[in-house]
Amino acid sequence: MGAAHSGRGNREVVVDVAGAVLRIGVVGGSIAGCAMAIAGARAGAEVTVHERSEAALEDRGFGIAIPPPLHRELVAAGYLDAGMPTAPAPSRLWLARQSGRPAARELARQDGAVTACHWGLLWRTLRANTGAAVRYHRGQPVTGVRRHPSGGAVLRTADAEHVYDIVVGADGPRSVTREAVAPGVRPVPAGYAVWRGTLPLTALAGHPQVLELLRGTWITLGYRGGHGIFYLIPGTAPESRLLAYAIYGSPPPATWTAAHETYVRHIAREHFPADWADLVGGGEHTSMAYHPVTDLHPPQVADPPFLLAGDAASITRPHTASGATKALQDALCLERVLRGASSPAEALRGYAAERQPEGARLVALGRRLGRAMVERTPDWEAMGAAEVAAWSRATLDGADSYLHGRVQG
Ligand SMILES: Cc1cc2nc3c(=O)[nH]c(=O)nc-3n(C[C@H](O)[C@H](O)[C@H](O)COP(=O)(O)OP(=O)(O)OC[C@H]3O[C@@H](n4cnc5c(N)ncnc54)[C@H](O)[C@@H]3O)c2cc1C
Repeated sequence: MGAAHSGRGNREVVVDVAGAVLRIGVVGGSIAGCAMAIAGARAGAEVTVHERSEAALEDRGFGIAIPPPLHRELVAAGYLDAGMPTAPAPSRLWLARQSGRPAARELARQDGAVTACHWGLLWRTLRANTGAAVRYHRGQPVTGVRRHPSGGAVLRTADAEHVYDIVVGADGPRSVTREAVAPGVRPVPAGYAVWRGTLPLTALAGHPQVLELLRGTWITLGYRGGHGIFYLIPGTAPESRLLAYAIYGSPPPATWTAAHETYVRHIAREHFPADWADLVGGGEHTSMAYHPVTDLHPPQVADPPFLLAGDAASITRPHTASGATKALQDALCLERVLRGASSPAEALRGYAAERQPEGARLVALGRRLGRAMVERTPDWEAMGAAEVAAWSRATLDGADSYLHGRVQG
């Protein structure tokens, strides 16, 4: 595809480059931004990333689960390296506290394989694979975007305006780029919260049975008013592992005076089986974060010359474990439409036709799962494999999710 104009680091410079390489500006250099940059570069474009943060992003040490087939596809396509450490978990285990007793009880096992990743290692790999062809600027917040009369887009930073043929908004939940595509659309609070964190594997030394369960499964632990997800992820040291969690429940009450992050200890001590209460309630966490759950679903994800990716495009409640997954699929889609289209506008229309419905589907699935797993939890303690199977079918009602497979037994 030919480009009509270009930009440089200083005040806007429009040059006649008809027939020259397509230029893409990416706002945000996290998971979505790096993946979109790889996609653009692989399709032959010149890509520049503008990332607000001055610091390296790999410090966020959380768990990210992605579908194994997507992981394989990304390795084969060169987005990820086969050597990036992962912790595959082939099946899912459902647990709850035994009725009237402190011990845990196994409710069901399901298919539902995940490839568990460390957020920082995933980002680092994507960042490395943007390669020398992509210019990546740190500490460069984008303050706004607008259309350029030539059909391209102007991207504004503190001391410069840059002109691109396509601007990709990969700037997360509070995207400034979204204003050009879906003005006024804001995240909608779900009314509950999720605590996300990690514990070192040494925390499991006194809990060998828990460690044994985690070796082959990822775990859903149900309690009245919410649930927790637990799985092993690679650590940043070679061959090391961390226990990652996402625990959903009501936000801390007004009387809670300590940091919101620490309320997860109270939830664990109050509701979890003894081993788990001890781990989360008393263990030393290597990372801990509190997120009020929100979602967001704009009417469109592209309006040439702008397109949105990752959380800038749509936010799904994390029950679907698909925000990063969607960002990576957004990138694969961008590469495909850029290769197949005869103009940037045609490529972006193809992207929107594919990715907008997928975002909408995941937002709806997240709301459905949130209702069933937090807002109106079943009586987990009374359930067995058959009840979990029936409840899963009713909850999903035909909806598709890589996390939910066939129930065994
Ligand atoms: C508890 C929890 C568990 C999750 N688990 C999973 C999971 O298992 N699997 C999964 O697939 N997903 C999961 N997710 C979702 C996933 O973490 C996110 O969807 C994903 O990280 C979003 O990446 P992103 O690049 O779109 O956004 P972000 O990571 O938010 O990145 C946006 C970037 O844009 C930059 N930026 C923002 N504004 C500007 C600006 N004006 N100028 C320049 N740069 C800017 C920011 O500094 C940031 O680097 C989970 C989320 C939560 C909360």
